[in-house]
Amino acid sequence: MELDWLGIEKKWRQRWIEAKQFEADPNKKEKKFITVAYPYPNSPQHIGHGRTYTIADVHARFYRMKGYNVLFPMGFHYTGTPILGMAKRVEAGDSEIIDGLKNIYHVPDKDIKTFSEPIKIANYFHEEIKAGMIEMGYSIDWRREFTTIDPVYQKFIEWQINTLKEKNLIIQGSHPVGWCPKDQNPVSQHDTLGDVEPDFTEYILIKFMFSDYIIPTATLRPETLFGVTNLWVNPDINYKKVTVDGEKWILSAECARKLEFLDRKISYDGEILGSELVGKEVTVPHKNKKIPMLEASFVKSNTGTGLVMSVPAHAPFDYQALLDFKKDQPQGSEYQLIRPISIIQTEGYGEFPAKEAVERLSIKDQNDPKLEQATEEIYGKEFYGGVLKQNTEQFAGKKVSEAKDAIKKWLAEKKYSDVLLELTNSPVRCRCGAECVVKILTNQWFLNYGDKSWKEKATRCLDKMSILPPEIRPEFNYVIGWLRERACARQHGLGTKLPWDKDWIVESLSDSVIYMAYYIIAKFVNEGKISADSLSKEFFDCVFLGIGSVVKVAEVTKIPKAIVDEIKNEFSYFYPVDSRHSGRDLVPNHLTFFILNHVAVFPEEKWPCEIVVNGSVLMDGKKMSKSMGNIIPLRQAIRDYGADPIRLAIIISAELLQDADFNLESVRGIKNKLVSLLEECSKIKPGKPTNLQAEDKWILSKLQSLISNVSTSIEKMRLREALHYVLYEFDSDIQWYQKRVNAKNRADITGILQEVLSTRVAMLSPFAPHIAEEMWEKLGNTDSVSKATWPSSVDNKIDIASIQSENLLKSTMEDIKNILKVTKITPRRIIIYTSDSWKIKAYQKILANIIKGELNIGVLMKSLIADKETELVKKDPDFVKKTVNDILSEPAAAREAKAKIGLVDEKKILSELDSLVQKDFGVTIQVFSESDPEKYDPKNKARTARPFKPAILIE
Ligand SMILES: [Zn+2]
Repeated sequence: MELDWLGIEKKWRQRWIEAKQFEADPNKKEKKFITVAYPYPNSPQHIGHGRTYTIADVHARFYRMKGYNVLFPMGFHYTGTPILGMAKRVEAGDSEIIDGLKNIYHVPDKDIKTFSEPIKIANYFHEEIKAGMIEMGYSIDWRREFTTIDPVYQKFIEWQINTLKEKNLIIQGSHPVGWCPKDQNPVSQHDTLGDVEPDFTEYILIKFMFSDYIIPTATLRPETLFGVTNLWVNPDINYKKVTVDGEKWILSAECARKLEFLDRKISYDGEILGSELVGKEVTVPHKNKKIPMLEASFVKSNTGTGLVMSVPAHAPFDYQALLDFKKDQPQGSEYQLIRPISIIQTEGYGEFPAKEAVERLSIKDQNDPKLEQATEEIYGKEFYGGVLKQNTEQFAGKKVSEAKDAIKKWLAEKKYSDVLLELTNSPVRCRCGAECVVKILTNQWFLNYGDKSWKEKATRCLDKMSILPPEIRPEFNYVIGWLRERACARQHGLGTKLPWDKDWIVESLSDSVIYMAYYIIAKFVNEGKISADSLSKEFFDCVFLGIGSVVKVAEVTKIPKAIVDEIKNEFSYFYPVDSRHSGRDLVPNHLTFFILNHVAVFPEEKWPCEIVVNGSVLMDGKKMSKSMGNIIPLRQAIRDYGADPIRLAIIISAELLQDADFNLESVRGIKNKLVSLLEECSKIKPGKPTNLQAEDKWILSKLQSLISNVSTSIEKMRLREALHYVLYEFDSDIQWYQKRVNAKNRADITGILQEVLSTRVAMLSPFAPHIAEEMWEKLGNTDSVSKATWPSSVDNKIDIASIQSENLLKSTMEDIKNILKVTKITPRRIIIYTSDSWKIKAYQKILANIIKGELNIGVLMKSLIADKETELVKKDPDFVKKTVNDILSEPAAAREAKAKIGLVDEKKILSELDSLVQKDFGVTIQVFSESDPEKYDPKNKARTARPFKPAILIE
């Protein structure tokens, strides 16, 4: 019968709420403050959204059971373009969006109708997302919930922004930003379709003279001007004649538009077709030399200026274009005389590196995509290893990497050059659909993330933080390194106004960086103890930074002193943030801003301690998307499969950084597993373990190792591994234990089984909290497993000897089975021979030597022969080699364990086999020692016995 998942889940959620189980206030215990990036309520949650929250919830539940006072709160991010963009698309009747809302998420028509108002969208999905989080069983303290447009939150953001401005970290200036020309708004990752950060770089425009006109070409390698042989022009492009800040230029229309956004004064004077330029000459800026403009098809109007400076010795595109061009020229044409000019010497390359790369990659023509690869290769090699040759005037003999900036400076001073900022990852589209550009924003407000000392402080914080998984750490260093000034205000959207310039709203990635501190205040706001109008700078300074006196704050704000004290103490109890969870896509922005803003605002002891980053969720191995029809709304999935199976299916499919692959087959498998565990729990009667036998000691030892493995894995947030241990890894041990117990017809094991199951259920509870409660109750407990103590692993409870004994029994049973399989005989009796005592001593010596690193057979042999106790090895030289192989085939930990327990009485251990063999094969066994003169040994088998490898005779 199908289990009533929803009924069980509802029952336990109700009990958690009644017991206020996840409400955390300061107490005597040690605290853990675990937070996860709050959601934008701009659309409903699907399965993919559940991953980060589920991981954080497991983390929170684990530490709660470990005895910590865990605070795990949640808020909702109403600010900025994510919600505004959705409202605009609904208002514009975007059928893709409306279809999705109607048909996938079943949002009622009457609600969709209101969605052109951003606040209506936010409120609707706020409730929807919250309901989903509750149904997933997240152990959130909902007393601390808030939205980023709550009046008190806005006061808090004003304080944050003012504090940064007082420290000169918010500056007014002119800086380039990614920009949506339609919305007239700066854009960053959260404002774009597909969540891409607009990335731009500075190109140098080299100004070639063409009678009265300047023809600019864009390059990242201004040093190659010395090797220019011609320009490339596309005959099909209709170029513009424009006046740029008083100079007359010829360039593509796209480039002229880009320059307008870069704050250049442009007027349009006329047009000239590329074909009219072909064959004409331009003058190289730094010397009176004329070069021709030749035609090439790889030149595009939307890249650079639409004209290209050709350096065939060092640029693969130019080299190939020159080859292509010459093919179409008659013999004897002057153009056949154009030769590449080599200007850089690089180790590993001859005179013309571009030619070498083109030939090595067998490039066919200038439209060959492999040219990109060739370009990248030459660029890197010449930049880091190249030296400028004698034909580069005052720069001769310098390394390219060192001369580059000097050349840029020289070109600018002589007015031979200009600059163009260009997106490197275009096209980037805004959420409104428009293509983004780079714009110089003048006299705007910027967070000065380019500030060197700010970066240093952030790096100091990062160095002390735990970053999980560890391999993601370099990405943070990289982001801190490249961050530059960032516009912190927008003109549209919900949010908090800039306190000193009310036309602007603090944008969404700037009002979400230190809000974890606000969770402390939110509780008091929701209880009606404080309100927006009474809050001042003094209040926040006092509570968060310890500046000023509580008495004074109470006076100014009219908040009772006791309340101010309470808030202040609660903040100093819960802060700093112990762990921050988020998806990997937030590393280049939110997570790094989180570090930067904390170090800017708070004293060092309040800096964050840890960041945990996870990958995304795939559906049946594919990205979730509407067009694939594979989006499963989270609440729908909970109704269909239950929350716990979904939590487990998400976690068990991948470790942190990998993409988790959600599929229904694994959900079904997990459900079956949980049902069978629940059935086992229902069958067990409580009892206490008494009179421990060999197998009891063994299974309890294995249980200790299990606890230790699961705990270590969760601490490292290796949740997939931890869950695997809890759900599956122990099954084969249980089977063996049952086999041993059944063979002996024991009936006194409920105490043991109860202990084993209770431990597993307790460890399952952070992952599958509802069903674990149900199991816990079935096991006879009256308290809640979410509040139970995490099982402790005590190393000295691990009985190494019993583990070795059971291993010997298992491997011997395995050997008997294999012999029977190969020989196909029906056994009448089974005889087992354990090795002679000198072999056991020799084994110990060999083992000790191997642990020390001595593997040489000759050396081992010599020392064994030299010893009276083991000199018999002479008669059996093969023994050493085989024993070395036996030992090496085991993991190091098992070797150490064997060395630790020393000699074991194999004969005594193997006598335990009798009941097992009788049960499995219906015959009795006899165990002899190799040295026993009375032994039955017709086939002379006993001499092949080795320690832990008894000889076996089956008749
Ligand atoms: Zn836009």
